[in-house]
Amino acid sequence: MSSASAQNETNVPKYQHSSCRPGRTELKTSIQEFLAEVSSSVPPDSKCPRCGAQLQYVETTFRLYGVESQWRVRVPVCQCMLADVDQ
Ligand SMILES: [Zn+2]
Repeated sequence: MSSASAQNETNVPKYQHSSCRPGRTELKTSIQEFLAEVSSSVPPDSKCPRCGAQLQYVETTFRLYGVESQWRVRVPVCQCMLADVDQ
């Protein structure tokens, strides 16, 4: 007694045409989240892929226009890169 009642109702998901496109607020939030994540995670001591020297970390402060908070991000820099810039 098998009732083979295959329901062929295709449930097409209705796209919600929300009028809110990714706007500035959303972008700003994404940047905030990114900066918060980067600033909180201290990068491990790593070495330069070019010359093998210990990387130095330059603390940089990021700010967003219209946002009170600021983030400190340690950017890895190597002397060999700086030497290239100076030339
Ligand atoms: Zn280097």
